Amino acid sequence: MKYPDIQNYINGKWVSTSATETMDVISPLDGNPLARVPLSSSADLDLAVQAAKEAFPAWSKTPIKERVQVFFRYKYLLEKHLEELAYLCSEENGKTYSESVAEIEKSIELTEFATSLPQLVTGEILEVSRGVECRTEHVALGVVASIVPFNFPSMVPNWTIPNAIALGNCMILKPSEKVPLSSGRLAELLKEAGLPDGVLNIVNGDVEIVNAICDHPDIQAVSFVGSTRVAKIVYQRATSNLKRCVALGGAKNHLLVLPDAIPTMTAQNVAASMSGCAGQRCMAASAMVGVGNVDHIIDKICEEARKIVPGDNLGAVINKESKERIERYINEAEIAGAKILVDGRNTRVSGKEGGTYVGPTVIDYVTPDMSVAKEEIFGPVISIMRAKTVDEALSIENANPYGNAASVFTQNGAMARYIIERASAGMIGVNVGVPVPREPFSFGGWNESKFGVGDITGKSSIEFWTKLKKVPLSGIRKQG
Ligand code: NAD
Repeated sequence: MKYPDIQNYINGKWVSTSATETMDVISPLDGNPLARVPLSSSADLDLAVQAAKEAFPAWSKTPIKERVQVFFRYKYLLEKHLEELAYLCSEENGKTYSESVAEIEKSIELTEFATSLPQLVTGEILEVSRGVECRTEHVALGVVASIVPFNFPSMVPNWTIPNAIALGNCMILKPSEKVPLSSGRLAELLKEAGLPDGVLNIVNGDVEIVNAICDHPDIQAVSFVGSTRVAKIVYQRATSNLKRCVALGGAKNHLLVLPDAIPTMTAQNVAASMSGCAGQRCMAASAMVGVGNVDHIIDKICEEARKIVPGDNLGAVINKESKERIERYINEAEIAGAKILVDGRNTRVSGKEGGTYVGPTVIDYVTPDMSVAKEEIFGPVISIMRAKTVDEALSIENANPYGNAASVFTQNGAMARYIIERASAGMIGVNVGVPVPREPFSFGGWNESKFGVGDITGKSSIEFWTKLKKVPLSGIRKQG
């Protein structure tokens, strides 16, 4: 193993666990073993929750302007350690180094937003009747939990850590057991930035810890990011235990391409969106619906896809099971009658034979009933369907149970607006392949891509991570 055995991070210290089982963390880049991660038990979670509970009174009473000073310093430390963090992210997740740099830069942007929270939580005040005024305060919830997936080892933890903690909460982070290393490094940087012990705790593990988080009586709120299958389980379990919960799930994002779209720009966007992070992004373009004759654009998409080289500007998928699953989807499409225009199956990268690579794949003449049209593939694959009209394209998009993102490529503003109004997704781009809103806007999908009210990032996160206190004050008379 390249790194020492991973421990839990409780009360500002690395501590051994009561786990009887461990899992190997394997680099998808070359198959090299990196570390062993413990599958902790609920007793380990209890220790973390106890530490968080003890830290909460002092942390929540610290004025927010003081709390965010930690995040100014953390932002500086993320910048200072950018290369190291990007290397680690790439090593454990398999994405390219430059994609990992972008992920750390995004983590910095998220932290920057948290430092602006004092400006956004000033509350309201109004004289509600003669001599009586009412004011509001955003109050921290207590101990909260954040359960995160493998595909963004740094960015997704930073979706929740800075905002939830700056707003006065103490947190339990449950990293993905596939990529636990980046989270650990973030916790160390937060300590260096001055975060008091016990405010952030990390419990490593899998299903057992997630269930224990959902059941724990001292955890007030749970945020989850991962697949729809697990998002449903977590949302149901956490809310049935009367916790606040937002659970972000998987995606099947549709790009609607109209014949008047600018060919090269559209093709570059489609190819980059389907293949960035090896297609393992909840914002990846996974299905394209060409309206009318878009053959000239599809030719260019294939041209762009062929420029993407596994092991060079295309990273690996997370593991062997994932590679097999993606290739199975491509096989199924071929058997069902679709045409594989660019084929990424059986990809090997010389010198990295232990790595799990899938090349960029463009599948044309997909029909809406095929599995590649309906399901999340989570690999560098685009499934192209054809529609005669914009309404037919919209009905294909609307019929999909997910609703994270969608995009339209056209030069016709009225048509773009028509599609924005009718597509059923939480984030809709116009001539943008990856329509991420960016701070201060919040991130979050619709339908089966998100369960719960509000979002966990941006301005919307304030409502999720705090409760509102309403304070009517009497006896304060105006002069005269
Ligand atoms: P996953 O659902 O397998 O795992 C997510 C977390 O849940 C992990 O921490 C894991 O340990 C835990 N978990 C796994 N199985 C569980 C079970 N049966 N019961 C309880 N907990 C369980 O997701 P993943 O494979 O790590 O990540 C990829 C998925 O995440 C994709 O579907 C992707 O679209 C989605 N994702 C969504 C967003 C979004 O914003 N909507 C962002 C990133 C990733």
